[in-house]
Amino acid sequence: MKTATYRLELLFPEATIRRRLAEMATELRPRLRDGLLVVGIFKGAILFTADLIRALSRLPGPKGVEVDFLVVSSYGQGGVSSGQVELLCDCRTPVAGRQVLLIDDIIDTGHTLDMVAKHLRDQGAAEVITCLLLDKPERRQVSFTPDAVGFRIPDLFVVGYGLDFASRHRELPDLMSLHHEEITP
Ligand code: 5GP
Ligand code: MG
Repeated sequence: MKTATYRLELLFPEATIRRRLAEMATELRPRLRDGLLVVGIFKGAILFTADLIRALSRLPGPKGVEVDFLVVSSYGQGGVSSGQVELLCDCRTPVAGRQVLLIDDIIDTGHTLDMVAKHLRDQGAAEVITCLLLDKPERRQVSFTPDAVGFRIPDLFVVGYGLDFASRHRELPDLMSLHHEEITP
């Protein structure tokens, strides 16, 4: 009998992620204004958002920063994008007239970021700066260029550091690529 399983391979260790986040904070800093609203996309962006706002706060930065999250429908467990993204829970903080730093874990087809950035602009955001930890440019279906990207990667499925497979592995401190295997005992 064959058993489907998978193995995880180290992609970016914790120390590399930490160094890159410090660089990203330095790159982003000159664009950010007082009264900035940081909006993370739940759940994948929780660790990245937490660490990036800490990296930003270590620099002389904007004052009066607020942080909120919004929830969109996810891929489910299969990892295949339907192209239909649904806003399940909007952020509670009013965005009208604000500069928004929109943060997600990864941009793949681009549907999620495209929909959420449009939604924030429709709600009257003055500016939406998009910031992604990971970018898989080969997989793009809608034309969308993020303002800041941590790492550009090939077409791999990634877990750890907030990203999950079947709701697991978000807690891992490193970014790992997931590879399916079949084992015949
Ligand atoms: P997009 O709408 O750009 O296709 O996909 C964005 C969302 O798909 C991400 O926020 C993430 O939830 C999920 N996603 C895309 N690629 C991966 C991946 O390699 N690993 C994980 N865990 N989620 C992914
Ligand atoms: Mg996500």
